[in-house]
Amino acid sequence: ETIGDNLDRTVAAFGERDALVERASGRRWTYRQFAEEVNAVALGLVDLGVEKGDRVGIWAPNCAEWTFTQYATAKIGAILVNINPAYRVHELEYVLNQSGIRVLVAAESFRTSDYAAMIDEVRPRCPALEEVLLIGREEWTGLVSIGRGGSVALLEELQAELSADDPINIQYTSGTTGFPKGATLSHHNILNNGYFVGELCGYTELDRICIPVPFYHCFGMVMGNLAATSHGACMVVPAPAFDPAQTLAAVAAERCTSLYGVPTMFIAELADPSFGEHDLSSLRTGIMAGSPCPVEVMRQVVERMGMTEVTICYGMTETSPVSTQTRADDPLERRVSTVGRVHPHLEVKVVDPETGRTVPRGTPGELCTRGYSVMLGYWEQPDRTAEVIDAARWMHTGDLAVLDEEGYLNITGRIKDMVIRGGENVYPREIEEFLYTHPDVLDAQVIGVPDERYGEELMVWLRMREGAEPLTAEAVREFCQGRLAHFKIPRYVHVVDEFPMTVTGKVRKVEMRAAAVELLG
Ligand code: ATP
Ligand code: MG
Repeated sequence: ETIGDNLDRTVAAFGERDALVERASGRRWTYRQFAEEVNAVALGLVDLGVEKGDRVGIWAPNCAEWTFTQYATAKIGAILVNINPAYRVHELEYVLNQSGIRVLVAAESFRTSDYAAMIDEVRPRCPALEEVLLIGREEWTGLVSIGRGGSVALLEELQAELSADDPINIQYTSGTTGFPKGATLSHHNILNNGYFVGELCGYTELDRICIPVPFYHCFGMVMGNLAATSHGACMVVPAPAFDPAQTLAAVAAERCTSLYGVPTMFIAELADPSFGEHDLSSLRTGIMAGSPCPVEVMRQVVERMGMTEVTICYGMTETSPVSTQTRADDPLERRVSTVGRVHPHLEVKVVDPETGRTVPRGTPGELCTRGYSVMLGYWEQPDRTAEVIDAARWMHTGDLAVLDEEGYLNITGRIKDMVIRGGENVYPREIEEFLYTHPDVLDAQVIGVPDERYGEELMVWLRMREGAEPLTAEAVREFCQGRLAHFKIPRYVHVVDEFPMTVTGKVRKVEMRAAAVELLG
């Protein structure tokens, strides 16, 4: 089944139910109305000459038009290229040329970024780029009105020619560890994944999902949008970009049953001064994912936000994204402390990164995943694809994991983030989890810094709770002494207001390591 066919089925079954709510504008669409917008954009693109396989870029913060473009491109078999809202000219130019974008749909501006000016600047250097449609401006409204007058029969014909294995999406990875790579994904990849994520959250047409995570990322467009539309649930867009108070307000006003976020988003919501003012009693479930989910934060999400069925997902852009997820009926202890068990129709194994051999259960190693969810490849980068997908189609994730006897998986960190101090492997995650238990600590991130004696030394970056005094290296040592092995006790402590982050809310340890080297001079 293609994404277009799946949407048509949902519209036939749940046409009068809410599909989408955009809080910033107060606009809302039932599934029938949503499909009308999607079809209009699809036919407008056809009128512009867009054909199957053409790349259509989308560069905008979360908004209704993002979702119309997502489904419209899937209906005509064009390849949607997600462009990170935080990009600047340099990255924009790279993505436009790397994927050969022919039509770009973009917001005119967002916050302090003038998208229109940046597009003008790079345009002469982007030979493939033929059309730019600024959302809300005449190019866009013109396209939509032409599309409204178009023939739905034509659209059905085009849709019938598509195959579920066609590429329809290029998603650039978060860029947490370096320059982003363009994962190329098919209908089959992402529709199935969205569907199964929804199944494991127990979604039906009665669910209303609050999506503060970016649509440009798979967390928004697959685990959010596709999970919703494949179950007839409603997508609630709380704001163009993440804001903790607006997210909580959206949950309350729309009686959302599910809420998404990376750990830092939940941390911000729980600490928001307005937290107590919002009625969150409609919440049943939700997803925390994207980076290590601290046990303490999970517990608070269950207890203070009432998300009793909240799940943790683990995945990566290259695998559509989700590979493992906790289930509502898993024991609470497992649900807060592991990333759950493998998803339906997928396989996982943990291997020794040196030998490639599967390690015994309980032993850390590199996680590999296999099944329908593995991307077609990195767009026009066969060499980089071959570095991560082996001949037997196993995706080598670059993440360190431990699989227990019952099949629950623990992610212990990224191979690149592991610290080797005096020959001992140190997993930052473990130390971070321990520091979260300090009452004054809001957030903790541990990195390795070069050291003459030990090869690497540990440094912790801390964000303190409101009103708390910054912790000194001495105080951190005292807190850890006797409770962590001596080689895991951070030598350096650096207190900051914010960590360097990607737009997806992930902490950029590469940047922290570079800054640390400067700090230590
Ligand atoms: P890049 O590949 O460009 O450096 P990235 O890996 O952050 O960026 P994504 O595909 O957005 O790009 O993120 C996938 C990664 O996020 C995983 O490989 C893993 O390291 C981390 N991750 C995702 N979910 C979890 C989770 N529940 N627990 C721990 N880590 C997670
Ligand atoms: Mg990655």
